[in-house]
Amino acid sequence: MDATVEELLAVLPADRVLTDPDLLAVHRRDEADLCAAGTPLAVVRPRDTAEVAATVRVAAAHGVPVVPQGARTGLTGAANAVDGALVVSLTGLDRVLEIDPAERIAVVQPGVVNADLSRAAAEHGLAYPPDPGSWESSTIGGNVSTDAGGMCCVRYGVTGEYVLGLEVVLADGEILRCGRRTVKGVAGYDLTRLFVGAEGTLGIITEITVRLRPAADEIRTLVALYPTVAAACGAVAAVTAAGHVPSMLELLDRTHLGAIEAYRPMGLPGTAAAMLLIATDTGDRAGAELAAIADCCRAAGASELYVAEDAEQAQALTAARRLAHPAMERLATQAFPSGRGGLVVDDVAVPRTRIAEFVTGVEEISARHGLLVAVVGHAGDGNLHPVIVVDRADPSSMDRGRRVFDDIMRLGLALGGTCTGEHGVGMLKRDWLARELGPVGMRVHQVLKAALDPSGILNPGKVIAPEWPQAGRRRPPPRLRASKKTDVARTVIP
Ligand SMILES: Cc1cc2nc3c(=O)[nH]c(=O)nc-3n(C[C@H](O)[C@H](O)[C@H](O)COP(=O)(O)OP(=O)(O)OC[C@H]3O[C@@H](n4cnc5c(N)ncnc54)[C@H](O)[C@@H]3O)c2cc1C
Repeated sequence: MDATVEELLAVLPADRVLTDPDLLAVHRRDEADLCAAGTPLAVVRPRDTAEVAATVRVAAAHGVPVVPQGARTGLTGAANAVDGALVVSLTGLDRVLEIDPAERIAVVQPGVVNADLSRAAAEHGLAYPPDPGSWESSTIGGNVSTDAGGMCCVRYGVTGEYVLGLEVVLADGEILRCGRRTVKGVAGYDLTRLFVGAEGTLGIITEITVRLRPAADEIRTLVALYPTVAAACGAVAAVTAAGHVPSMLELLDRTHLGAIEAYRPMGLPGTAAAMLLIATDTGDRAGAELAAIADCCRAAGASELYVAEDAEQAQALTAARRLAHPAMERLATQAFPSGRGGLVVDDVAVPRTRIAEFVTGVEEISARHGLLVAVVGHAGDGNLHPVIVVDRADPSSMDRGRRVFDDIMRLGLALGGTCTGEHGVGMLKRDWLARELGPVGMRVHQVLKAALDPSGILNPGKVIAPEWPQAGRRRPPPRLRASKKTDVARTVIP
């Protein structure tokens, strides 16, 4: 038996350490195409913080990489295993530990699924707003580690804006508690924020304290149809410039509308080039606000406008938007004779005044490379997802897919945007991160990484490309001696 696995079995209950090859294969990767994935040495499924710390101590002692995983719904390869790594799956730490309605906070373990936290908060008349499309499967730990966004972030902000405090297992197995439970607090460096969006490269999050809000008031929903995607984007800019802050402002292009309708027929419009889905949730004021937004949409060239008749219809429209990814996956599967079609999901945020230029540029890129690129996204945030449809069985299609992806990134940065609005960097965008941040920004990243993970065992190759020099990198510590091993067992597992 491998020495690392043997040592893990000495400090953890046997059922936590899994080496079945089929299971290892399942845990190799997340949802991203175009990213390499290795085969882990083992998958560890800890049940509490002490077990996570014990696992990291063993890994540190052996210089073995550690890859934290939530639900593996990530779209950048950030959760992909590297060969010989210990995958630490956090899905077993899945308890909502506390909801405090008076302070409006929740304390959760990282494996809690986003929608489960929302439902738990709703029982107290509260809401946890960040709502990625993957909310029924992705975990709060994964959401925090990618600083995930979602549909209502246009009004309520992304995950990081809700994180008050964290418990984190550091690269040497020490347990850090940072942040606060109070409304205000500025003690010391903002360590909590450092781990938000760090994609598991600086520590493993084992507990999260989040802010909650009062549940939203009555929601009113509007649909606006446009003859071109650029016209719909112009309307988004007009709505935001007029000072409206809707609780949802989503864009779907014709390809997405058709894919969703084919996936689950619900009477979505088939002729428009683009649809905006807009909601307001300001109760008594929602109707007037929606009417003013409708005026903006009409002035920006909407061909048709509809208001959802009731809450049921509004929910059906939101549910349709949530089906965008699975519907496009089915479209891709059916698009090629190989049956191996797939999606490369891009994630660019540009200033809202420039999204029309962005989508026009994406259309040109798509035509130039001869690949279908559909567009969906959180338009109210300027955050769009060009979705590139590729044939995984055809190397030339994959190659063109990569070039389309890079051209879209280049376009986004040229328009003053960022290479990721919400999905993170992972493996897919390391080079683009370096271009966006420049040498000084990358050096600060490297220094922080080296300070918190001097042996480079935490999720290697993510965010910072391996070929980038690793500032201050030390060699892995020597193997544990027998007496030290006993210490690990005694101190970490009570
Ligand atoms: C259908 C679909 C819709 C989506 N919609 C959205 C959307 O609207 N908005 C959005 O932002 N994203 C979206 N995503 C992407 C994805 O769901 C998010 O990135 C999500 O936050 C990932 O959560 P996860 O639990 O699956 O994490 P994983 O994919 O398992 O991991 C993501 C990253 O977090 C790290 N990590 C996980 N848990 C921990 C932990 N406890 N401690 C430290 N590091 C950890 C991993 O190492 C990895 O780097 C979507 C994906 C799909 C498939």
